[in-house]
Amino acid sequence: MDLYEHQARELFEEHGIVVPRAEVTDSPKKAREIARALGGRVVVKAQVKTGGRGKAGGVKLAADPAAAELTARQILGMDIKGHTVGKVMLAQPVDIETEFYVSYVLDRAAGTFLAIASAEGGMDIEEVAASRPEAVARIPVDPAEGVTSAKAGEIAEAAGLPAQTVDVLVRLWEVLVREDAVLVEVNPLVRTRQGQVLALDGKVTLDDNARFRQARWGADDMEHDDALEAAAAAKGLNYVKLDGEVGIIGNGAGLVMSTLDVVAGCGARPANFLDIGGGASARIMADGLTVILSDPAVKSVFVNVFGGITACDAVADGIVQALDSVQLTKPLVVRLDGNNAARGRAILDGRAHPLVQQATTMDGAARRAAELATTG
Ligand code: ADP
Ligand code: MG
Repeated sequence: MDLYEHQARELFEEHGIVVPRAEVTDSPKKAREIARALGGRVVVKAQVKTGGRGKAGGVKLAADPAAAELTARQILGMDIKGHTVGKVMLAQPVDIETEFYVSYVLDRAAGTFLAIASAEGGMDIEEVAASRPEAVARIPVDPAEGVTSAKAGEIAEAAGLPAQTVDVLVRLWEVLVREDAVLVEVNPLVRTRQGQVLALDGKVTLDDNARFRQARWGADDMEHDDALEAAAAAKGLNYVKLDGEVGIIGNGAGLVMSTLDVVAGCGARPANFLDIGGGASARIMADGLTVILSDPAVKSVFVNVFGGITACDAVADGIVQALDSVQLTKPLVVRLDGNNAARGRAILDGRAHPLVQQATTMDGAARRAAELATTG
């Protein structure tokens, strides 16, 4: 889960990283008052969960409170890369001398964390990283050791950052650990002409597995890229929307991943990833079907279950009960294998729903679901 800039700013401040004074609002009138309280001149910043706001016109300097109101009016409601601006943050402007880039990110491939830092931060960091990778230092961080002052010194030196950034690097690591983040990024971290070091922009991605510990970031304030994903998340489903036409339900992330591959191999495109895990209850099945069927792109649904601890007859019972509460509007292809598969298939046969068909193999079921999706 990504946080908004203003939320990241709040976390930075709590951990002793210096940030400009700032306040958030969804009202242009209030923007004027905030600007007045902040001294008149302010930077008006779109609060959307995407980068490159500056280049998209979502970060603007306003000379006085009246200009702040006008600018806030312009930016609120603006579309930035598919994200609608619902709030703006007004921040005190800072007299920038140099912009740096610093981040810590979980490097899953390497099984460790990575510090990424550059003395050439700011809006063109992606370009710097692409054209002159040597200007961006990448230093592994052992999570058990963390970022001590010595480690921070090593990172700063490798990136050519001034000594004043060492303290920020240590505190930023604390943010990552204490707040259950898998990414913390400051771009730009700046040195002002007065010699102060401040974080002007922040991105924090929290570890979704730690959500229960981070209840503070209420769901109501969370922007979801996709309405279906939001609906699925509200039901506690492990759902990711994809671009295709075959809806997928499976038990276990590995099986679902393979199912996506097999469907793609049959010439169709998966419409989603949905792992119902060990849950075979009618409610989970009904919730999953409801979300998938409300995607207008879906032409057929493939339920692929390998019965283990949760046996196939329990899954079949779940499907049959779900069919009582969900209006099935598209064909459903079910493949049950593993523990109690025969009993499960018999239960589905017994229900004899006109839109439900069964296949005994994963390949056969995928082919059938792909056929149904592509021939309408
Ligand atoms: P994004 O990365 O989404 O474009 P930023 O918050 O990094 O948005 O803002 C873009 C640029 O605007 C920064 O690189 C910085 O030069 C400038 N900027 C942002 N906040 C301030 C501020 N408080 N004072 C002065 N300049 C700022
Ligand atoms: Mg930025």
